[in-house]
Amino acid sequence: MTEARIQGRAPAPDADAAPQATRLIGLDRDDFAAVMAQLGEKPFRARQLWHWVYGQGARDFSAMTTLAKAFRARLQEGFSLDRPEAAEDTLSVDSTRKWLFRFVDGELCETVFIPNGERGTLCMSSQVGCTLNCTFCHTGTQRLVRNLEAGEIVGQLMAARDAIGEWELPSQGRLLTNIVMMGMGEPLYNFDNVAKALKIVMDPEGLSISKRRITLSTAGVVPLMARCGEELGVNLAVSLHAVTDELRDVLVPINRKYPLDELLKACRAYPGVHNSRRITFEYVMLKGINDSPADARALVRLLKGIPAKTNLIPFNSWPGAPYECSTRPAIARFAEIVNDGGLSAPVRSPRGRDILAACGQLKTASVRVRGRRRAAPDHG
Ligand code: SAH
Repeated sequence: MTEARIQGRAPAPDADAAPQATRLIGLDRDDFAAVMAQLGEKPFRARQLWHWVYGQGARDFSAMTTLAKAFRARLQEGFSLDRPEAAEDTLSVDSTRKWLFRFVDGELCETVFIPNGERGTLCMSSQVGCTLNCTFCHTGTQRLVRNLEAGEIVGQLMAARDAIGEWELPSQGRLLTNIVMMGMGEPLYNFDNVAKALKIVMDPEGLSISKRRITLSTAGVVPLMARCGEELGVNLAVSLHAVTDELRDVLVPINRKYPLDELLKACRAYPGVHNSRRITFEYVMLKGINDSPADARALVRLLKGIPAKTNLIPFNSWPGAPYECSTRPAIARFAEIVNDGGLSAPVRSPRGRDILAACGQLKTASVRVRGRRRAAPDHG
C-alpha cells in the first residue's frame, strides 16, 4: 500500500524521454548542411528540405512528399517545425493585426501586420523589451528580458504567414510584402541573430523577401551601421527625433554615447545609400518639445548632403506618457518647411492605435505588470 502510494507520487515514466527536438526554423543553409551530415543524407537533400520549410511553410514532415519516407520519419524523430505560439491575436478596426507571440521559455514579444493597399508590412521585434530607454517609447519602459534568437525572429514571419494563409498563394500577389525591424528592441544590439534571421528571410528559394523590401530601424548604434549595410544591404531607418544633442540626449539617450555628429557621419557612409535609396529619418512629433518651425529648418540643414527622406510620426500616447502629440497645424507646418527644404516628409498615419499596435506602443502585458515606472524626463 505504502509502496503503491510512493510510486504514485513518483514522476510517471516518461514516454517522451527522447532528447528535445531541434527546431529547424532559424537554421540557415550551413546548419541545414550540418543536419544532412549528421543524418548521413546526401547534401542535395538540404535544398529540398529548405524548400519545404521556408518555401512552402510545411508544418508537418509527412507533407514533404519529395523526401523518402524513412528520411521523413527520422526528421520527425529529432526535429520540429514549431513556430512561436500566438498567445493573443488582435484585429484593429483599421485591419492592423497584432500578435503576442510566446516562446518556449514563456517570454513574449509583439509583431504587427499593417496591410496598406498593394503592400502589407510586418513589423517584427528583435528583443523582448529594450535597453534604450527612449523617453517617449512605451517599450523603453519595459526592462530587457533578452535578445531574440534567429529562429524566434524568422518564426514571427512564419507564424504571420500561417495566420494570413499566405503559403497557398505563391504565384499571386502576396499580402505580406515588406518587413520592418521596428518592433520591440534595438536590432543592432542583437546584430548576429538579426543578421542570421534576415539572411534566411531574404533567401530567394525560401521566404524570399528582397532586401529592398526590408527596413531596419536603429536608434543609432553607430559602430554596427556599416556592417548592417555591407552584410545585409537592407534599407536603413534612423530614429532621429531631435536636431540638437542637448534634446536628443534626453529623448534617445543612446545619443550620449553616439552623438549626432557621429551618427550623421555613419549615415553619409552607409553602404549602398544614394538618391534612389535614401535613409529614412524618423521624427516623432512631440508637442512643444521638438515641433517648432525652427526645429524643422534645423532638420533640413542637418540632413543636407545625405540622401534622406523623413518620416514624421505623430506621437502615439500610452498610459503615463510624459509627452503629448503635436497639434495637427504644428505637424502640417513642420512638414511644409521640411518639404520646402527639399526632403520628402510624409506624416505617418497611425495604424492600430485602438489595439496598442502603433509605433512605440508595443509592450507585453506580462512585463507591464513587473515593469518599473520611469520619472518624467526633465528637459525644460
Ligand atoms: N530601436 C529601434 C526600432 C524600434 S522603434 C529604433 O529606435 O529605431 C520604431 C520607431 O517608433 C522608432 O523611430 C521609435 O523612435 C518610434 N517610436 C517609439 N515610441 C513612439 C511613440 N510613442 N510614438 C511614435 N513613435 C514612436
